Amino acid sequence: MIGHLINTDIGNRGIKRLYIEYRRKNFDFLKDAAKLFLDNYERTLIITGFPIPPTMRAETDGPSGAVALYYAVEKLGGRAEILTYPEIEEALRDLEVRFVKDPFIEGYSLIIAVETPGRAADGKCYSMSGLEIKRETFDWIVENARELGIPTIGIGDGGNEAGMGKIKDLIRKYVPHGERIGSTIETDELVLSAVSNWGAYGLIGEAALMEGELRDVLATINEEEILKSLTMHGVIDGVTKKTELSVDGIPKEIHSRFLRLLTSTVKFRSPRA
Ligand code: MG
Ligand code: MG
Repeated sequence: MIGHLINTDIGNRGIKRLYIEYRRKNFDFLKDAAKLFLDNYERTLIITGFPIPPTMRAETDGPSGAVALYYAVEKLGGRAEILTYPEIEEALRDLEVRFVKDPFIEGYSLIIAVETPGRAADGKCYSMSGLEIKRETFDWIVENARELGIPTIGIGDGGNEAGMGKIKDLIRKYVPHGERIGSTIETDELVLSAVSNWGAYGLIGEAALMEGELRDVLATINEEEILKSLTMHGVIDGVTKKTELSVDGIPKEIHSRFLRLLTSTVKFRSPRA
């Protein structure tokens, strides 16, 4: 049910057919990701940030989801760290979350990539419109973690993000320029969503249905405040490419209401701690 909610394509960005086929083949994708999360959260690295060409400024999708995941890990008694771009780090400074610049990968029990570029077949990273991303990316961490046998979860909404390599055939089939821009970086579990922030919220929501301790985490996220701070630090909407209070071209009101719907749904359905 939550898997379905987070794939509601309000922005009409074309995730529908991709989602339906992914869901048909991986009916329990969100449950599986939530299980992996609950089994491995003790020491979690959360990676977020997607630079948008041509300015290469980071976009507004990802950071709120990363913060929500951070709170979820800490609520469970684990320790979380966030790796992201400097402007996002600055924008999230008041939230008192822990950042890391040079992560020691072996030290983590779980890596979650939320809306961050994943290398395409030619070794470069691309925007949805096919422009090359010319800024440092973090997908190598996901790759290294996989080689070390550390569990990984990817959260994405387009096909060019770290984690989407898990469904590269579907990206090629359904996403415009999929062959060229499709990510080759795989994760153990993949949370597909219409907006990556929603994917992160959905992962927490699904985990809360299994672990009542998490039932109030989504209520602590003030996405509008986070958005305000992000835009004050030059972060842009990835679709409109403007500094405005929107994510993926969808205005802030819809995001706040979507999060509220998810929060109430989770409270209604999850066991009391
Ligand atoms: Mg995306
Ligand atoms: Mg997005």
